[in-house]
Amino acid sequence: MEKATGAPVIWWVRQDLRLGDNAALAAAAATGAPVLPVFVFDDASAGAWAPGGASRWWLHHSLVALADALRSRGLPLVLRRGDSRQLIPAIVEEVGAQAVFAGRMYEPWARERDKAVAAALAARGVRIEGARTALLFEPWDIRTRTGGSYGVYTPFSRACFNAAPPPQPKPAPARLIPPNHVPASDRLEAWRLLPSKPDWAGGLQTTWRPGEAGAAARLERFLREALPRYDTLRNRPDVPGTSGLSPYLHWGEISPSEVWHSALAAGAAHAVPTESFLKELIWREFSYHLLWHRPEMPHVPLKPIFSRFPWRNDPVALKAWQRGRTGYPIVDAGMRELWHTGWMHNRVRMITASFLIKHLLIPWQEGEAWFWDTLVDADLAANSASWQWVAGCGADAAPYFRIFNPVLQGEKFDPQGAYVRRWVPELARLPAALIHRPWEASPLVLAEAGVVLGRTYPLPIVEHAEARARALAALEAISAEK
Ligand code: FAD
Repeated sequence: MEKATGAPVIWWVRQDLRLGDNAALAAAAATGAPVLPVFVFDDASAGAWAPGGASRWWLHHSLVALADALRSRGLPLVLRRGDSRQLIPAIVEEVGAQAVFAGRMYEPWARERDKAVAAALAARGVRIEGARTALLFEPWDIRTRTGGSYGVYTPFSRACFNAAPPPQPKPAPARLIPPNHVPASDRLEAWRLLPSKPDWAGGLQTTWRPGEAGAAARLERFLREALPRYDTLRNRPDVPGTSGLSPYLHWGEISPSEVWHSALAAGAAHAVPTESFLKELIWREFSYHLLWHRPEMPHVPLKPIFSRFPWRNDPVALKAWQRGRTGYPIVDAGMRELWHTGWMHNRVRMITASFLIKHLLIPWQEGEAWFWDTLVDADLAANSASWQWVAGCGADAAPYFRIFNPVLQGEKFDPQGAYVRRWVPELARLPAALIHRPWEASPLVLAEAGVVLGRTYPLPIVEHAEARARALAALEAISAEK
């Protein structure tokens, strides 16, 4: 191992918990100075958007994985909890750092914080260098012909495909010099990111392996098993038809460039189409583009007319939705998958979100908050853009009047009912033809399946046709108002 000489540089680790293809770490290493990796758990700056329960679980394990990877390269990982505005300048002073390198973040709270940190460092004559570690394209680089931002996905995606391609991923730096002086670090356990009393994370534990190695394994498996049939199966929650890379991308345990180029290479090698998968990665970029240009998106409907929407306050229905007890099997299966694994299939996210907003008339922000707390991939840009999309109030949104029928959606995308059987086991013995509409089963069929509606499984908490009419009336009311 090389000995440290001279002032170190700090790699301020944020949502880029990886060594490979990390432009911030690479820039720090390229200075030739010793590198001190520092992670600050800055839940104070994040406020309402501090990591929720499932994200905290993920973060704990991801930091363990990163610390292990750094240790094997002879480097420490310094952990601190608190306000980065004070902590980063304080560590810079303590170690006499000459510069700070950080992957860019785009959340409104992080932008504000980063400006303050940069000003505090500038006052000390220390530079902070940002690098693109989380996105394929910077949100300000993709512009309309007149130099504006995009509000609609399709032209945005076209502009991305026409832009200079994302750079090829680079391996972890070959040479990393450890610092001489390592400031005190918090103990990760002291942050209490893991749940206890009760420990509800058993399902997360068996589903996920956070960290860079887990991300690489996921990607490899996806390219081998699911990419070849992604076009046909990506909407099917009953089969593993998508990548499951969302939490790894959110936490930066894999770079989007790595995913992009690996998919292209696998597609070319096996003559498999990749466009629809790449387009999903572009949806992620679009969400960040929107958040960058419309920082109010997590709270405020982007279509102003929706701020007058007559939402209902119904804590009982909200709870039934959260716990997967609405009486609509595909909705309940999705909400229980989320609770158990910290993840839900995209098609089912759309169905469950639509049900909350349109069948129950509960504000989309309530659903956004629940997802924020329970998703391991909870991501401010993707979550808020997607909720606004489903609610019909986003920049480019599904029209509000298009109301998913949860029975037909279930029958189309879970045709044999395998997904429902897995997550709603009390319905497992119903025949496929009735599993998405148990209330239509005869008393004999219900008895044979061991189902007592209203006892072993709830009756629907709203009737579809009535709920649909009520939602359309609400829309009409805001459209008619001047
Ligand atoms: P794949 O199909 O394998 O797609 C590859 C990657 O593309 C994903 O990992 C993800 O990073 C990105 N992606 C795919 N679809 C979208 C999309 N519609 N919007 C933005 N990025 C996308 N995704 C999150 O990462 N975090 C969230 O908090 C989140 N909240 C959502 C809330 C609602 C109501 C809805 C409808 C969708 C939400 N999504 C969110 C988007 C999408 O459901 C997930 O990204 C996807 O299900 C992740 O599974 P995957 O990795 O197997 O996706």
